[in-house]
Amino acid sequence: MTYPHTQLFIDGQWRDALAGETMAVFNPATGQEIGRVAHARVADLDLALAAAQKGFETWRDTTAVARAKVMRTAAGLLRERAGDTARLLTQEQGKPLAEAKGEVLAAADVIDWFAEEGLRVYGRIVPSRYNLAVRQLVLKDPVGPVAAFTPWNFPVNQIVRKLGAALATGCSMIVKAPEETPAAPAALVRAFADAGLPPGVLGLVYGTPAEISNYLIAHPVIRKVTFTGSTPVGKQLAALAGQHMKRVTMELGGHAPVIVAEDADVALAVKTAGGAKFRNAGQVCISPTRFLVHESIAKEFSAALVKHASGLAVADGTTEGVQMGPLANPRRLTAMAEFTQDALERGATLATGGARIGETGHFWQPTVLTDVPLDARVFNDEPFGPMAAVRSFKTLDEAITEANRLPYGLAAYAFTKSLKNAEHLMRRVEVGMLWVNMAAMPSAELPFGGIKDSGYGTEGGPEALEAYLNTRAVALMNV
Ligand code: NAD
Repeated sequence: MTYPHTQLFIDGQWRDALAGETMAVFNPATGQEIGRVAHARVADLDLALAAAQKGFETWRDTTAVARAKVMRTAAGLLRERAGDTARLLTQEQGKPLAEAKGEVLAAADVIDWFAEEGLRVYGRIVPSRYNLAVRQLVLKDPVGPVAAFTPWNFPVNQIVRKLGAALATGCSMIVKAPEETPAAPAALVRAFADAGLPPGVLGLVYGTPAEISNYLIAHPVIRKVTFTGSTPVGKQLAALAGQHMKRVTMELGGHAPVIVAEDADVALAVKTAGGAKFRNAGQVCISPTRFLVHESIAKEFSAALVKHASGLAVADGTTEGVQMGPLANPRRLTAMAEFTQDALERGATLATGGARIGETGHFWQPTVLTDVPLDARVFNDEPFGPMAAVRSFKTLDEAITEANRLPYGLAAYAFTKSLKNAEHLMRRVEVGMLWVNMAAMPSAELPFGGIKDSGYGTEGGPEALEAYLNTRAVALMNV
């Protein structure tokens, strides 16, 4: 399948940047340039902002039922086109085709759920405590045009979790999608355009991330900012949004602990958390990272995890039977080499992997490090790659202390057959999402988001819609 030239989508039109600038897009499996993407500058952003304001005025005055109809049509188109969109996604991002198709189909489900949930945005009537002639109303209104910044690890889904809530509540949105993986986001936007979304309700731009975020966040048209990406960038954008008093949702980095208790089903823990570790080559914000295993089963667990990791089929994502593709960009390859070297220098054991595969593309061996010291970088900074770091513990409380040691608080996993242990972990582990005896199973109806340095706000459940709504009070005296 040929890879397209990706354009900007502004005011219902696909177009090149006004200055004609473009950026190269590479296939991470080959390192070769496969296409180009339009590079927006301030003049393009001004057009997108004017369109977003106009689109907001149209969309907020559209009934929730009519909005839901457009959204469900877009979800249907996305499903019909899932095969083609997945092929674009794999070419530009690297993940196995099956994972890419799964991402697109999951995105359609997320859109459907938000379309339905948007029908249930209700206000309230609050009785007056002073006078029965007074009617007090609580109104829920869309916050306004939104600026969304989304990353390359799930090029479609990271947009949909923001866009679903924004469209369902009547907001317009300008998405600055990832420059490294632009075509799959464009296919998503095309599904909405073909479904009849009015011009201006959704804009799509690419360019220099800092230039775009500095301009959009400060701009008076934009009323809300939503970002998914690393914690350092999230903090910068949240600070800028604070200066301009913009509403904010931040879905940032994580460093998920996996606590494998003494009574855990080791095979289940390896199959689920081990499986999840190497999904999307570990480039997942909720990827299991710090494996904390009770000392009595640590050897057995590590051996099984090594067997799992070393048996994975790593290849170009379009290859039949592939389980893990290349890393999405050369930065991750450098990071993997640095994390490995640092861990070994500090005394960790390399149980499997730890090296680049071949000279072509950004392939890295699924890696397991054991006896990892607490001061190793991989136990402190998000590796964002196919790297599992294992350490043993003596008591559950010791594992909980370690789980909570880092400033991150996104996801955690625990394996135990004891209800008492599970209950204790549920209360004490400081994360936005905890999965017990299972791999992560995020879905649209469940809150998705972190606490502490992993951000604030959630991108699932009814709370996700609240983030795109203003709550206002009106009191009426019957005279
Ligand atoms: P990065 O921190 O430079 O960029 C992360 C994302 O933020 C990218 O999509 C980038 O385009 C965007 N970004 C960067 N600066 C920005 C700015 N000033 N304004 C708006 N957007 C901006 O790093 P990277 O090399 O692309 O990714 C590596 C790190 O990013 C990972 O280690 C991981 O911590 C984090 N990350 C997290 C997620 C997630 O799902 N939470 C996704 C992708 C990357």
